[in-house]
Amino acid sequence: MSTIFSKIIAKEIPADIVFENEDLLAFRDINPQAPVHILIIPKIEIASTLLLNSKEHSLLLGAMYDAANEIARNEGIDKNGFRLVINCGDDGGQEVYHLHMHLLGGRKMQWPPG
Ligand code: AMP
Repeated sequence: MSTIFSKIIAKEIPADIVFENEDLLAFRDINPQAPVHILIIPKIEIASTLLLNSKEHSLLLGAMYDAANEIARNEGIDKNGFRLVINCGDDGGQEVYHLHMHLLGGRKMQWPPG
């Protein structure tokens, strides 16, 4: 089922896009939890990591990771570090069921997460 992220991919609703290629889009989270909070998403609709089931999907996840590192460098948070998060399913705290990776940085993170 489509989510609001499909509308962002289609450019039907605005987003602060920081990275885009053929397969991926990245934009600033509307409710940032850190000075840098960016969401990296595939352009194809995959609800969650629970549904990643092919070599193609594994490559996509790797590409999301590569994009996160590139964006971290662009945002100037690669030296001090950052956090990558994928919330998966109900217990994982996922709210938007379009696979996405959170890139959080610009402040010291805490552990454990809530
Ligand atoms: P999650 O809980 O992992 O599903 O995270 C969903 C994230 O999407 C939250 O951090 C929201 O703030 C963010 N979000 C929801 N709608 C938008 C939007 N239109 N533009 C940017 N970020 C959004």
